[in-house]
Amino acid sequence: MLDADFFRRWMTAAAASVDREADRLTALDSPIGDADHGSNLQRGFRAVRDALDKEPPATPGAVLTQAGRLLISTVGGASGPLYGTLLRRAGKSLGDAAEVDERQLAEALRAGTDAVMQLGGAAPGDKTMIDALVPAVDALGDSFAAARDAAERGAVATTPLQARKGRASYLGERSIGHQDPGATSSALLIAALLDASGPEAGRE
Ligand code: ADP
Ligand code: MG
Repeated sequence: MLDADFFRRWMTAAAASVDREADRLTALDSPIGDADHGSNLQRGFRAVRDALDKEPPATPGAVLTQAGRLLISTVGGASGPLYGTLLRRAGKSLGDAAEVDERQLAEALRAGTDAVMQLGGAAPGDKTMIDALVPAVDALGDSFAAARDAAERGAVATTPLQARKGRASYLGERSIGHQDPGATSSALLIAALLDASGPEAGRE
């Protein structure tokens, strides 16, 4: 079972990973965006980490709801409201249970991903974070490791696509040949589930 501390560790691991990869995320956002994705997310996840350290919420749902709210108020850009919606909707789906299982987490992230698609209007293949999140959610029923691999494959597979949503879509065909920064950060978020599970989880 996954308790509030697991969800806090997940957000803390995501913050560490975004810190490590911020330059790369911003570099990916340079040819097909405005070179701020890494710094946007770094600001947001640092705020999340600090708030959760100071006063950790008591339930898994409350951890995700608070994280989502903070991302909306600190990240800015297109990705702030979208990631905020992902986590807030997932948190709502978990309700006020003290512990949830992997299946409930998968359902919650499915609901969150659906809410992101509704808010942003993107579908799979539009070269956005959705291209990492949808395959990750599909694989989450198998294992966290399977979800991490699926998200990473989904992010890499955005390279040959032409963007149909977000800033990159203004470039038309010139968006082809670059990996989407948001799909890349979504893969980091999913990979952080393994960090939160402890050293054994990556070897499933
Ligand atoms: P901005 O584009 O406002 O500078 P960021 O650079 O932080 O925001 O985030 C860009 C990422 O947001 C893109 O790489 C893409 O994955 C994601 N994104 C943008 N628009 C949408 C959308 N409508 N639906 C889903 N994801 C989107
Ligand atoms: Mg940007």
